[in-house]
Amino acid sequence: MNLKNSKFYKRIQTLRHFSKEKILKERTIRTMALRGVEMALSESQCNHDVDAASVAAASAWSPPLSSTSRRKSPAGGAAKSKMIKKKTDTSPRTREKGFKPVQPASDEDNDGAEVNGYIELNKCRYRVACSGRVDATTSRAAEPLFVESKSTICVSNSRYAMIGRISRLLGYKLVKESKLWNILWSDSFPGVELFKNMKRFQQINHFPGMIEICRKDLLSRNLNRMLKLYPHDYKIFPKTWMLPADYGDAMHYALNHKHTFILKPDSGAQGRGIWLTNDLKTIGANERLICQTYVYRPLLIDGYKFDLRVYTLITSVDPLRIYVYNEGLARFATNKYVEPTPGNANDLYMHLTNYSVNKRNSQYDLCDNDDCGSKRKLSAINNWMTRHNYDVAEFWSNVDDVIIKTVLSAWPVLKHNYHACFPGHDTIQACFEILGFDILVDWKLKPYILEVNHSPSFHTNEQVDREVKRPLIRDTLTLVSTVLADKKQILREDRKRVKQRLLKSKGDRQVTAINAFCHDHHIIIYYSVLRPRQVAGGAKPPTNETNVATAPKPEAGSLAQQVAWEESHLGNFRRIMPPQDASRISYYSKFYAQSNQVSIFQETAASKKREDLARKMRLQIEEKRAKAEQMLLASTKRKRPIQPRSVREKHRQYMYRLKENWIPGFVSEAEERLRHTWQQMRSEAIKNLKITENIYALLYELGHLSNTDITVFPSLYHCLQIGYDIKGAT
Ligand code: ADP
Repeated sequence: MNLKNSKFYKRIQTLRHFSKEKILKERTIRTMALRGVEMALSESQCNHDVDAASVAAASAWSPPLSSTSRRKSPAGGAAKSKMIKKKTDTSPRTREKGFKPVQPASDEDNDGAEVNGYIELNKCRYRVACSGRVDATTSRAAEPLFVESKSTICVSNSRYAMIGRISRLLGYKLVKESKLWNILWSDSFPGVELFKNMKRFQQINHFPGMIEICRKDLLSRNLNRMLKLYPHDYKIFPKTWMLPADYGDAMHYALNHKHTFILKPDSGAQGRGIWLTNDLKTIGANERLICQTYVYRPLLIDGYKFDLRVYTLITSVDPLRIYVYNEGLARFATNKYVEPTPGNANDLYMHLTNYSVNKRNSQYDLCDNDDCGSKRKLSAINNWMTRHNYDVAEFWSNVDDVIIKTVLSAWPVLKHNYHACFPGHDTIQACFEILGFDILVDWKLKPYILEVNHSPSFHTNEQVDREVKRPLIRDTLTLVSTVLADKKQILREDRKRVKQRLLKSKGDRQVTAINAFCHDHHIIIYYSVLRPRQVAGGAKPPTNETNVATAPKPEAGSLAQQVAWEESHLGNFRRIMPPQDASRISYYSKFYAQSNQVSIFQETAASKKREDLARKMRLQIEEKRAKAEQMLLASTKRKRPIQPRSVREKHRQYMYRLKENWIPGFVSEAEERLRHTWQQMRSEAIKNLKITENIYALLYELGHLSNTDITVFPSLYHCLQIGYDIKGAT
């Protein structure tokens, strides 16, 4: 039977044809999308001929990036050659991805392109040009965002329906948590297990360890620590004490300064449990509270106190990339402000600016106009400042500074946690996070950080909420979802890697490059594997360069591509880290150097107490363990208890029965004969030497033998029978 004519064969051929077409189509879409990214990324020059500004830029990047560049392109030399190859554009991978090297731009070109920053990979510096940057005030509501998105998002852990709606508009498919989602949007911090089980194409909207700045007590601890290290730079928050550990310090300060204090529960939110006092003695010595000096001269608009909700997006912690949304909210108190006195200290509608507090006040203003209402847009505040001759640009540069410093205070923890949770995420960043920074501004326009929210509210009760939060979500999803996260390709690669690892011992391939390098106690081993099958079919064995080109990810350029994507999809975000201003780059680099965490933590009173407590607990546990061990040892050493007689008797009988039933092992004839001979020889010797008689004689002489012995010793009787003279024998 001719199989080729069978229906089954034809069906398989059709299916093959379809799948080929599908793959080609997908590849075309991907290449088109990547082209946009690559247009934004232009390779400018290598390290050896960079100008002073570029060096400064590199130095600011270097603390986080030096490690990352090693991590992102772990093939070391191999990756380097990949990068060098990109210049001549001969690498098949490069060609496949449509990665055209852009010739070093001329000065004229430079004039045209807006240079936003540099990234450094394997000693090659890339200039990132922002092509699709949108003006801060431009609304992009009418713009089409994605042509086509195959990505999936899971929003089942979020209570905000808006996130699902916007995702769907952007072309995302909503899926359950059990599916292989591309993005997981959750309102709460997920557990470490979820982080660890994430695939290389998956992203989540929280960074492990962000709690370091999102809980009031941890934020205070980190900022206080940084204040000790950099007293001139970290005056970005009101004086703060963590009670009860810093109770003494706070009391001492209160004695010497006439000040109003604001007291907050250490992990509270929405203004719950907050009160004002100027008498710290009323506080119990064991109460867990955050005590802060009250900023008693805030900036007032129309006589009302307000604070700013600044939305900040972090797309990477190593290297640190922070974006601030140009639009945000100003939340107003609902009673006109008067400096705190014992009479008005209880008026929360005057001193607190929380929406959750003030919405209960009948004075809450729901006005939709820009210049009125208890909730206004940041653009309205900017207009107000401009009208009142304030320097808006300088003010926002100070706000950016506060945000950067706050994030930097937790940077070592963030970096460490990220690498611990995602050692294999080499194509895209595993996390992104929108943080809500609450900033209070004083009458001198100095911003103070009050709080950082890891899940800022996305409720859209008012028009102003909708105008701010919808574009924020849309721009965030656009910025974080790069085309680099190709689920199918990454899964294919992962399967291939697993297969290669399993088949490793069979030796059907060559390991062309194994580069192991240590990154912050995590060793990443990178294989680039080539199988002989690829070489088969008369094709020439590939050179090392092609091996590297066909090597699996991590790709040297993935970070560069992601940065380029972000820079070209900013929407209404502005990048604040790395800063646009080259002179600020070197300024911030010093804050990265807070390496010895433990010794630094020990410096605050609270940390000392915590350390003491931990040490005491450790000692107690050790003592308990030692005691338990001793008891165990004593019980094993103790003599075995004497068993009852009946048991012993049973045992004896058992042993006896064993002996009774003993069956001798095999004895060979030769052995038996030998034994017999030896026995004969011995009896003859006894007979000849008259040993028995001698013994009897000796016994008789000593008077040890009696007549009864004759019956006891049969051989003696035998001797007497044969008339042997016992006496004479001696
Ligand atoms: P919560 O997380 O409960 O909202 P916050 O720290 O944000 O707590 O404080 C609530 C409000 O109290 C702020 O919006 C602000 O108006 C006011 N507030 C907090 N700390 C201070 C301070 N040190 N000085 C002046 N006002 C403050």
